[in-house]
Amino acid sequence: MKLYSTNNKDLRVSFQEAVFNSLPADRGLYMPEVIPQLDAAFIRNIQQYSLPEIAFEVSRALIGDDIPAGDLKAIVADAINFDAPVKFLDAGTAVLELFHGPSYAFKDFGARFMSRVMGYFSREGDALLDVLVATSGDTGGAVASGFLGVEGTRVTILYPKGKVSKVQEEQLTTNGQNIRALEVNGTFDDCQMLVKTAFNDTELNGELRLTSANSINIARLIPQTFYYFWAYAQLKTQGVNDVVFSVPSGNFGNIGAGLLAYKMGLPVKHFVAGTNVNDTVPRFLKDGRYEPRPSVQTLANAMDVGNPSNWVRIQDMFDNDLQTLRNVISSYTFTDEETKKAMDSLYTTFGYIACPHTAIAYLAANAYKQAYPGEYASVFLSTAHPCKFPEAISSDVFEHVVLPKGAEVLAGKPKLATPMEPDYAVFKAYLLQNK
Ligand SMILES: *Cc1c(COP(=O)(O)O)cnc(C)c1O
Repeated sequence: MKLYSTNNKDLRVSFQEAVFNSLPADRGLYMPEVIPQLDAAFIRNIQQYSLPEIAFEVSRALIGDDIPAGDLKAIVADAINFDAPVKFLDAGTAVLELFHGPSYAFKDFGARFMSRVMGYFSREGDALLDVLVATSGDTGGAVASGFLGVEGTRVTILYPKGKVSKVQEEQLTTNGQNIRALEVNGTFDDCQMLVKTAFNDTELNGELRLTSANSINIARLIPQTFYYFWAYAQLKTQGVNDVVFSVPSGNFGNIGAGLLAYKMGLPVKHFVAGTNVNDTVPRFLKDGRYEPRPSVQTLANAMDVGNPSNWVRIQDMFDNDLQTLRNVISSYTFTDEETKKAMDSLYTTFGYIACPHTAIAYLAANAYKQAYPGEYASVFLSTAHPCKFPEAISSDVFEHVVLPKGAEVLAGKPKLATPMEPDYAVFKAYLLQNK
């Protein structure tokens, strides 16, 4: 697999280089030089494959010889060891649940695969790989459990004190082993500032082998394609052939992976992106002007993104042509008030408890269905288990949430976190003194 930069199509780097760099130096995004087409027979018979088998076929097509087939198969089997079931709510509407991994959010797909790929490429004798990650909640948990016990790696998570939910904090702070949590006395922006400054610090980079677990890493995008194929396989088993996917979108990595799957030959009728009031993409699709704005805080806080970093990739896949983009993607934006109502009505109508992000995908699926009725399955993606968002869900619904199996075990574990001031000199001293 060779990759170019969206800012320089003449550039060519290897998969390994793209994984460790995350971003090209020119600040574009890495994209595969060619998007491989999957065998038509594979798509036709996809209902005969399991999720790990699909994951292997899809990743092998993309990655090629950069990881030998036997090793790739082992990486995939180890990373994708949980299900992503499609559940029908009514005849035309289904939910694709992506929260059955260890951190109860879809980011497990990306983080678990990326961590194993990084571990694989870190050969014996290489210096310890130091992963720095700032989180507002979900990313940190997925990265922590993804890298837990992966040899040759260490993760330092920075999270804002008092600004993540109970389950999120437990997932960040109870790991031990090669995972350290820093509880920053500040905001998510402070956490990000500390991490970004560290990456730009030449002296520090001379002492430590730093890497980011950024959501734009190509090794996070690839595994997110798997569940689109898997959802399609499940639908085919049920006799459904036409599908519209509705994706709750913040940085647009999840939907970007869906579009990559589509480009590889997955038959999808249409994609719908649901956003909270951070509506840069819906505005762009409407008037053709890309005008990012500072992010606004909402109930669906994992989608509070004013300038979605994966959008460039999506534009690149469709040759930056607005009309082509509009033919493939529709986008709708929703307020907190609408999101709350949707969470309540999902519960009263279907007995289904959704997190706020998932509720936005449901709203977007309905909006599209109203505008374009037809004979297709509307599948909205559930990106997190509702137990992670107690403040966002009304209490008479939340009291019915059934905790996932591991959650009680997690709650009994001691919290391991180091308090940290939002001061770069203090953070740097910590990193150097705890090498
Ligand atoms: C990260 C996240 C999203 C947004 O996904 P993007 O790939 O950034 O668009 C949506 N829902 C949840 C629960 C998340 O954690």
